[in-house]
Amino acid sequence: MGIVDDDVARVRELTDLAELVGEHMALKRAGRRFVGLCPFHTEKTPSFSVNPELGVYYCFGCQASGDAITFVREVEHLDFVGAVERLASRVGMTLRYDDSSQGRDRRRAARLAEAVGSAIDFYHRILVDDPAGGEARRYLRSRGFDGDAARRFRLGFAPGSFDALTRHLHRKGFSRDEMITAGLSFTNRAQRLQDQFRDRLMFPIHDSRGEPAGFGGRALVAGAGPKYKNSPETPLYHKSRMLYWLHEAKADIVASGGVVVCEGYTDVMALVLSGVPQAVATCGTAVTDDHVRALTKLARRVTLAYDADSAGQAAAERWYAWEQEHEVEVRVAALPAGRDPAEVWAESPDALRRAIDDAVPFLAFRLNRVLAGADLSTVEGRARAANSAVDVIAQHPSDLVRDQYVMQISGQVGIEPERIRAAVDRIRRQPGGGPARPADRAGPERRNEGVPRAPGAARPGDGRRDRPGGLDATGGFDPAAVDPREADALRFALHDAGYVVDWLAADLFGDPVAREVFEILARTGSAAEALESADGPARSLLQRLAVEEPLVDAEPETVEARLMANLAEPAGRRRAERLVASDRAEEAAEGGRLLDALANARGSGWPAAREPAERLLAWLAAGSQV
Ligand SMILES: [Zn+2]
Repeated sequence: MGIVDDDVARVRELTDLAELVGEHMALKRAGRRFVGLCPFHTEKTPSFSVNPELGVYYCFGCQASGDAITFVREVEHLDFVGAVERLASRVGMTLRYDDSSQGRDRRRAARLAEAVGSAIDFYHRILVDDPAGGEARRYLRSRGFDGDAARRFRLGFAPGSFDALTRHLHRKGFSRDEMITAGLSFTNRAQRLQDQFRDRLMFPIHDSRGEPAGFGGRALVAGAGPKYKNSPETPLYHKSRMLYWLHEAKADIVASGGVVVCEGYTDVMALVLSGVPQAVATCGTAVTDDHVRALTKLARRVTLAYDADSAGQAAAERWYAWEQEHEVEVRVAALPAGRDPAEVWAESPDALRRAIDDAVPFLAFRLNRVLAGADLSTVEGRARAANSAVDVIAQHPSDLVRDQYVMQISGQVGIEPERIRAAVDRIRRQPGGGPARPADRAGPERRNEGVPRAPGAARPGDGRRDRPGGLDATGGFDPAAVDPREADALRFALHDAGYVVDWLAADLFGDPVAREVFEILARTGSAAEALESADGPARSLLQRLAVEEPLVDAEPETVEARLMANLAEPAGRRRAERLVASDRAEEAAEGGRLLDALANARGSGWPAAREPAERLLAWLAAGSQV
């Protein structure tokens, strides 16, 4: 089923995991590994680690682990085949499919994207060098966009003709069904195929991988239908998930740690052209949970570049909730009232850049608006202003944040902070007066948790996070719980299997998973092959060990002594206990003497422990089974 096995392996091989992960989040080099903030759970100090040589990652916070395919599946919400395809296109590889229905679906999606791509080219050519595009070109110029901008954003013009695109696609070999399913044509009342978009300036919309998905079209003639019309929902175009320009902005979003969200396609163009490349726009919808999830994986700062009135009307409670849930900071650009980014840019690109730089926290923005309209010169005016401000402050879910604004407002309206705080608390205690937050949907008990978490992220203590796929199903095994001494030895075995397997043995490991990993490494002789052949808990443990550096604190002899002593001692103790339990006191006493000698020698440092450790190992190896 699906993609040919060899191709899956080849894609994994060709993918540089550190580079791939780096496209989604900031990574720092740490020795041979890379570390960063885990994309799978909320954290402030990095516990996510990548081993680029072996192509595996592991998070010490939530135990998420896997390889390039798992990573893409989780981060981009793709299924296995989708993830492999995404990786294959990254490395420029063509995949072969087993002949299955799944393969056919994929080929069909690729075909639809091809049709949208052809439409992008068709519309673009008309805009840039066809007399029919004159009107659209004049409109763009009036907004300050020249031919270079039109080419850079691959803008297009859908002519007024009834079926110009449909005929063009037909000539290119696309079927009626493909054109309809791609949202480019529809069947009119006369049962004829007609273009979806007519007489519109066309903004091509791509998915986050950069595949053509659909269009936003702006009417150029008043009265010719809605001002903006977007592609209908198709297998490629889902309006609640699409973010215009994300495929281009992604790298800059990650690099800058911030994203600027706008409402219009021309706003994104204006921002990019004024030197703010990390800009995206929703495609005719308000911001959704899906949008926020996608963006907060890339950045911790979200700046809303809406005109002041839209920003004032943006669902504040939802943004506060997102702020808490995803630990992001939401700001509002300081745009002049009634002006959108494209308008500000047309007058002065510098002014637009400044508006982004001077963005203020969302709550501060809303308070400023309340206070700007207030008359603070009279007692009554100040009381009214305080009341409005209290309403705004009470919506924020964080008491620390609320308190800071209580202090600020107190100074501005000249009312004691205690009285303002009491008023805020009163509102929050009212049934339904508190803030609506997504967390509320998960049940009231979450309200009191200190650190809100993204849905699906691990809660402390539950060991494993829920994961949809079975790739890394580990049956509740927590790789972080392995005895550190055994993990230490395995790390060496993983980095250089030959080095350790010669003088250590599988039965020295008390933890069954650790023992299995040692056996796999001894058998395969290489970390890459071990990863390939392991599954379940053993694979998960291997992935964790692969992102850890072996503790090379001294000469090889010292390291060897440490590993031997650390494994021999607990193994010797276990054996001695079993001997006592089976009434073999003499043998147990012999073991006890060896253990004492080792403990004694350890006091003088690892090198001194080597000889007694070797004797203990020999005793363990020679002993008959108990
Ligand atoms: Zn994590």
